[in-house]
Amino acid sequence: MVAPARLAWQTAVVEKVKVETPRVKSFTFRLPDWQPFRPGQHFDVRLTAPDGYQAQRSYSAASPPEDTGTVELTVELMPGGEVSPYFHDIVAPGDSVELRGPIGGPFTWTSAVGGPLLLVGGGSGIVPLMSMLRHRRRTGSNVPASLLYSARSWDEVIYRDELVEYAMNDRSFHFLLTLTRQQPPGWKGPARRIDPEIIGTAVGGIGTPAHAYVCGSEGFVETAASLLVESGVPPDVVRTERFGPTGT
Ligand SMILES: Cc1cc2nc3c(=O)[nH]c(=O)nc-3n(C[C@H](O)[C@H](O)[C@H](O)COP(=O)(O)OP(=O)(O)OC[C@H]3O[C@@H](n4cnc5c(N)ncnc54)[C@H](O)[C@@H]3O)c2cc1C
Repeated sequence: MVAPARLAWQTAVVEKVKVETPRVKSFTFRLPDWQPFRPGQHFDVRLTAPDGYQAQRSYSAASPPEDTGTVELTVELMPGGEVSPYFHDIVAPGDSVELRGPIGGPFTWTSAVGGPLLLVGGGSGIVPLMSMLRHRRRTGSNVPASLLYSARSWDEVIYRDELVEYAMNDRSFHFLLTLTRQQPPGWKGPARRIDPEIIGTAVGGIGTPAHAYVCGSEGFVETAASLLVESGVPPDVVRTERFGPTGT
């Protein structure tokens, strides 16, 4: 059986590498057979060692589909891991990497779907939510959107400058950041893991969401999704994506 075109492996070329935080880098790939994708979808990456051993992992698109021909993937370093250290230590502009996608269905949002839109991300769980926000910006959407982002520290906030810029210039975007481990001097925002009060503030920024997306580690997603439902968000509007270990 022939695999559908979107699932065929392609050889993508790394155009750009950007350091986001001390543990996170973004890689812009140019794809020979780029297909339109929906924000929230992911791509699979496959590495092959000289002896033929292969490792495969999933990474969400960080870029919006408006960036035709390329996709940006954002990779958090997992020390001791098989794939993420390779990206951090080895991959450079001009390198080729095998990629396939886009993949994934329910965890997607486009401007046409509308809002209010509630996004809840923990750590690198911000990645697919950023694709949604970038798409929202690029399509000129003013759908009310609220982002609750839980990061360990100010230095570990991925896409920090861009998010701050959105928050300052977009009156229909509400941004709530909680820094769980370390806070900069004078920090006035929440400084703890998400709880009912933090969730309540995020929901209060837009009213009851018509669409809610939660992404992060297994534990983060479980907690956040439960808190959303306890706060009155209808369970059927909550979609989740877990960044647990993947691969073959
Ligand atoms: C749909 C989907 C989308 C994803 N998108 C992204 C993304 O945009 N950015 C990103 O950085 N990652 C993302 N991931 C996670 C990614 O696929 C890998 O699991 C991660 O990069 C670790 O791979 P590794 O080969 O470096 O580590 P591995 O060799 O797989 O694992 C090394 C060690 O780390 C543990 N581990 C692996 N992954 C995680 C994790 N996510 N959290 C905690 N411990 C872990 C393993 O249990 C093991 O002990 C996504 C996962 C899924 C399922």
